[in-house]
Amino acid sequence: MSSTDCVKVAVRVRPLVEREISRGCVQIVEKTPGEPQISITGESNSKTQDSYTFNNVFMPEDSQDKVYNDCITPILGKLFEGYNVTILAYGQTGSGKTHTMGTVFDGEWDASRVGIIPRALKDIFKTVQTMENDYTVSVSCSFMELYQEVLFDLLTDRPREQSVCEIREDGTKGIIINGLCEIPANDENKANNCLILGGSKRTVGATAMNDVSSRSHAIFIVNVRSQKLDGSESTSAKFTLVDLAGSERSKKTKATGTRFKEGVKINQGLLALGNVISALGGGSSGGYISYRDSKLTRLLQDSLGGNSVTLMVACISPADYNIEETLSTLRYADRAKKIKNKPIKNEDSHSAEVKKLNAIIQELRVQLLTK
Ligand code: ADP
Ligand code: MG
Repeated sequence: MSSTDCVKVAVRVRPLVEREISRGCVQIVEKTPGEPQISITGESNSKTQDSYTFNNVFMPEDSQDKVYNDCITPILGKLFEGYNVTILAYGQTGSGKTHTMGTVFDGEWDASRVGIIPRALKDIFKTVQTMENDYTVSVSCSFMELYQEVLFDLLTDRPREQSVCEIREDGTKGIIINGLCEIPANDENKANNCLILGGSKRTVGATAMNDVSSRSHAIFIVNVRSQKLDGSESTSAKFTLVDLAGSERSKKTKATGTRFKEGVKINQGLLALGNVISALGGGSSGGYISYRDSKLTRLLQDSLGGNSVTLMVACISPADYNIEETLSTLRYADRAKKIKNKPIKNEDSHSAEVKKLNAIIQELRVQLLTK
């Protein structure tokens, strides 16, 4: 796999919503026919360029099906080859992140409405079925919410105030999230139930705290471990789906107090994420990758760079009213496009050792035969 295959950036423009139509908003986003290129036709002081090119551009009329088939299908198979696959949805609140990711799922399957996560779960279990003759495959799910730099486990039975997890680093195992539930899911229904259960815990938080969901990052993880029945090969890979907090700056929303503090934390996290992504692409940091600058980047350390395939879906509104946020999202996504990862397979040390020993045996056989 070449390095350019490892990071993709897609932009998705949602349709004008009621609120924008009733305000008399006009669409200022255009796509170049036949090209994954997007242009902003409206006027803005912060505009530095008129058009941007990405791996994919989806317009308001493009379906959930198309987004999934064009962007997710091509990378999902990498998971079974032992690569970590990470999908990030970025954009201002109301731009279509949750709709695109499918983070909120009620269990009802409607092809025109369902987003990426339930679709991917369906495909993962289809693949697992085809492997069952030769492999033992185990799948498990985790679901977390990062709010104001505090990480909550959304799948635990414990009450919210006792569901806080700490991030720890382990020399050999990488990032470990202390106390995080990993729910075994041997079929699509079980995995969907994790999504539904975690989602409902977020919603409960939201009514009590005034839409926390738009100001927290939601992280859904599917772990896939496979072992060949003859024991000769085993891989483990992580599929990480992140519905990021709204990227709007607190200046525009005139936030004060708690809201302002939330905004600062969100911006720190998204800024650190942008810096990590830029550094992975050999950006301005001189090769130093500062995962430690925020919990979000520490948490995603083994899901970005190294052995991972990453897709960022930048979600934008088509309306003139949102031009500043839209330009800011496009600039952020443009910077992400420069990532060059060299993915490496997650092969466990045992399989690697077996391979090495087999090679030695082979060599000795050859020596013996040629004596
Ligand atoms: P975010 O998660 O970024 O805050 P949402 O996904 O909740 O935004 O989307 C905001 C509103 O716009 C929702 O009512 C959602 O159903 C609608 N919406 C977003 N994207 C699309 C789309 N591509 N097609 C139709 N409706 C969409
Ligand atoms: Mg949302």
